Order: sequence, then structure tokens, then C-alpha cells
Amino acid sequence: MQLSKYDYLIVGSGLFGAVFAQQMTAAGRTCLVVEKRDHTGGNIYCKQIEGITVHQYGAHIFHTSDKMVWDYVNQFVAFNHYINAPIANYHGEIYNLPFNMNTFSKMWGIKTPAQAKAKIEAQKSQITGSPANLEEQAISLVGQDIYQKLIKGYTEKQWGKECKDLPAFIIQRLPVRYTYNNNYFNDHYQGIPEGGYNILTDQLLKGCKVRLNTDFLEEKQALSSLAHKIVYTGTIDSYFNYQFGSLEYRSLRFESEILNEENYQGVAVVNYTDRETPYTRVIEHKHFEFGLQPKTVITKEYSVDWKLGDEPYYPVNDVKNHNIYEQYASLALREPNVIFGGRLAEYKYYDMDKVIASALCAAQKELFAV
Ligand code: FAD
Ligand code: UDP
Repeated sequence: MQLSKYDYLIVGSGLFGAVFAQQMTAAGRTCLVVEKRDHTGGNIYCKQIEGITVHQYGAHIFHTSDKMVWDYVNQFVAFNHYINAPIANYHGEIYNLPFNMNTFSKMWGIKTPAQAKAKIEAQKSQITGSPANLEEQAISLVGQDIYQKLIKGYTEKQWGKECKDLPAFIIQRLPVRYTYNNNYFNDHYQGIPEGGYNILTDQLLKGCKVRLNTDFLEEKQALSSLAHKIVYTGTIDSYFNYQFGSLEYRSLRFESEILNEENYQGVAVVNYTDRETPYTRVIEHKHFEFGLQPKTVITKEYSVDWKLGDEPYYPVNDVKNHNIYEQYASLALREPNVIFGGRLAEYKYYDMDKVIASALCAAQKELFAV
């Protein structure tokens, strides 16, 4: 009988795989991590360009209210005091985000929360009952003017659909505040790892064997035979050979440039909220770490239609995809030797802190089940 070499084969070196690997390695288990890209870290991967840490797969701001997760990541890397306070650019008009007294004041020339509330009340009067879609939800939260200038164009570019055809909950992620506070998140803890996310990933994967440029699905049998158990963080439909059809995603295209100037836009994130500007946002990476380098790196982010083979970014939250996912999820339950986790295997829009919490929980279940 051939003895398996590793306790775990971990497919994917993103946050889910890396946190699971760290927990198991710390508990004395052996892990082999296979990653189809040429680097570890999944979508939090960063590259150093002109001395600037560049977020290769879109801006990643760590925020959480979960003290356990915050303490966990701080064991491996220090976080700076970055607070996300993005700007909206609507045809050259500049507004603060998220929607707060600074936004209301600029939009309407008002000064007090009572004046802002009165404006919004008047502008949402057409919406009665509970909002049936994103358009109604947005208007009932912030009124017509903000919906038209700061939400409609951005959202329709981002999702490739009319706001009337999108679910209301998408916009509920954003805070609406009657205070002069531009912090994009309500969470208790926030920051960017000093030196970038790769430091975190490298620390998490310390002591594990990692094979890059290795697609598990191309060598499924051979790789599976190397371990007792598998942790799979790739797309769930590909694991099951798309037998119920493929799950849909929104994809992104990033265009980065090095500019010969010190400070291009004065803030890390500018959202272009009009329909005419083809990209949704421009990231100026140095501002995540308060950089003063002589040059700067910017990235324009375009939201694009997805087809099989493209990079899957955002799951499409509609009934059709939900039903397909449920079919795969029930097959997954019948694979006792495979743990399915992370944003692709669970077809879920997960923030980083939630992925970490989920991986810690999966690891605890493993360790205490034995
Ligand atoms: P991933 O990071 O996708 O890792 C999965 C890994 O598995 C990948 O490296 C992939 O190459 C590999 N893989 C897949 N299939 C195979 C296979 N067959 N064989 C081998 N390897 C395979 N979260 C926040 O908290 N704050 C933010 O500001 C934020 N911004 C975001 C911005 C964008 C544009 C996006 C798309 C996401 C953002 N997120 C943010 C979410 C964050 O990226 C995720 O929560 C986190 O990266 C998910 O980790 P994961 O391990 O589940 O998935
Ligand atoms: N949104 C918007 N205008 C903005 C920023 C966000 O209308 O300037 C809406 C948009 O519908 C988006 C949702 O708010 O899908 C959630 O925004 P968030 O920044 O959380 O999106 P993410 O890119 O993190 O998914």
C-alpha cells in the first residue's frame, strides 16, 4: 500500500488556502499547496513597481469588526493606519463618499443633518412600500439627485445591467451617514499591511510546500493521491466538470501606468460615476501607504462581461445562478474527503476578513473532529 505523503493537498494559495495551511502547519500537519498562477496570494497579490506596492487584482483594503480576525492577521504583519475615503467624480464634479454630510452639503449647498434629511425625504416620496430593486432602494436611501449622479452610472457599468434589474441588497453595503465622516467602512479595525499583502501570504505559507503553475484539475488524480484530504478553493462548477452548467461572473480588466509625477489624484481611489467614462475607478496605489516616491502608479479598472476562461471576480447574485450553485453544493456534501472553501468554491462575495474567519473555522472543525 502506498502511503500518502501529505495530510492536506490545498488547491489555491489565496487567503482561504493560506490561512487553512497556516493553522494545519502550526498543529503539526503537513500541507502541499498547489496554485495555478505563477504567484501565491490569490487576489490579494501585490507587485513592487517604482518602490510602490501595487495591488495587482484591484484595491484591497482590510477592514473588520471581528477582533479575533484582526488579532490573527496582526501576528503576521503590521497594519498601517490607512482609512479608505474615496472620491466620486461625476463629469468632473467631485463628491465625497460614502454618502455623508460632505456629499449632501456639496450636492445641495446645505449645512445641517436636518436640512439633508428634508431634501432626501422630498426626493424619495415617489417610493412607497419596501424597495423592489436597486433603483428604488437607492432613491429611498439618498434621493433622486445622488442616485442620478453617484449611483446609477457607476452601478450600471459595474454590473452591466440596469439598476431596475438589480437586487436592492447590493447598495446596502454602503454606509449612509448624517455626520461629516468620509470613512468608507463602519468597521472597528482598518488598514493596509505595511509592505503589502505578500508579507501576510508568505508568513501564512511558511513551512508548507508550494507548487506554482500547477492546475489541480489538469492532474486531479495524481495530485489527489499525494494527500489524505483535499481543500479546494477553485470554482465549484469546474470541480464537478460543469455538469449542471457554468456559474456566471462579472469580470474586470485592469490597465496600469507609471506616471512621471509625484501625486496624480491626491487619494487612493476615485470612482467615475458617470456612464460615459468607460472605467469604474482609478486607483493610485502609493496613497495606500502614504508614499512620497517621485513617480506614481495608477490603475484604471474596467468592469467587463465574463465568459468561461476569463478571470472570475464577482459572482452574479440572481436566482438562476443561485439554483445552479445549490446543485453543486449538494454534490460537494457527498465528497467527505474534500473541504470546499473561499469565494470561488462557495460562489460568494466574501470580504477578506470573512474568508479568514471561514478558513479558521474550517481548520478548527478539522482539528477537533480527529
Ligand atoms: P482567491 O484569492 O481567488 O484565491 C483562490 C486561488 O485559487 C487563486 O490564487 C487561484 O489561482 C487558485 N486556483 C483556482 N483554481 C485552481 C486550480 N484548479 N488549481 C490550482 N489553483 C487554483 N475584500 C476586502 O476585504 N476588502 C477589499 O477592499 C476588497 N477588494 C476587492 C476588490 C476586488 C476587485 C475583488 C475582486 C475582491 C476584493 N475583495 C476585497 C475580496 C477579496 O479579494 C477576497 O475576499 C479574497 O481574496 C478571497 O480569497 P480566496 O482564497 O477565497 O480566493
Ligand atoms: N456604488 C455606487 N457608487 C459608488 C460606489 C458604489 O453606486 O461610487 C454602489 C454600486 O452599486 C456597488 C455597491 O454600491 O456595486 C457596493 O459598493 P462597494 O464599493 O462595496 O463595491 P465593491 O466594489 O466592493 O463590490
